[in-house]
Amino acid sequence: METVSPTNSRGMTSLPEALKFLVRLAQADVSHLKRGDLLNLCDDLRAYLNIEVNLSDDLRAYLKEGEGRIEKDLRKAETDPSVLNETVKTVLEIVKTVADRGKAHFTYGKGEYILDASAKQIVTYEGSSLRDAILHSAMGDVEELEQAHRIKRCPRCSRFFYGQTNQLYCGRVCAGAVAVKRYREKKSGDKATSKRLRKGTERKTEG
Ligand SMILES: [Zn+2]
Repeated sequence: METVSPTNSRGMTSLPEALKFLVRLAQADVSHLKRGDLLNLCDDLRAYLNIEVNLSDDLRAYLKEGEGRIEKDLRKAETDPSVLNETVKTVLEIVKTVADRGKAHFTYGKGEYILDASAKQIVTYEGSSLRDAILHSAMGDVEELEQAHRIKRCPRCSRFFYGQTNQLYCGRVCAGAVAVKRYREKKSGDKATSKRLRKGTERKTEG
């Protein structure tokens, strides 16, 4: 279903792709990223907000002048990752709330939507911070329940992941470790049982 919202005109082609990015962003340790990885993350944020992807020439020029606050934040973040702290914190809170099926409140500052139906990108934000723009987009993305509930927390390692509807663990490592643990427990349980049984038989033969 297509609606005029900031989320349907993105650089990321699909909702699963966008949700996967949010899960990754939520757990990004931005202060310890290598320079190249930090630049890539900033580009991923641009792609997520569809900046520089399908922008109309007017808006592109506007942003190049350095007046767009989101782009300004992103330029700063390229050399000072602490600029991303609020954004990552907000996304972590959203992802955590969705994964744990909880409840949370989010406030946002002032800003504007620009609805430009003549351009390739219909909706853009102006005057809002990077954090607020991501908040708006992320809230739009987690609105679709079925998709959003694929964001989960792994019961073994506590990390968030975006998986299949029936997927319980984050990946093979955790699923495998749990399977091995269960197998060992079952085996030692079996041993204990057979010991008890043996004892029982021994006693029987004794008695
Ligand atoms: Zn795990």
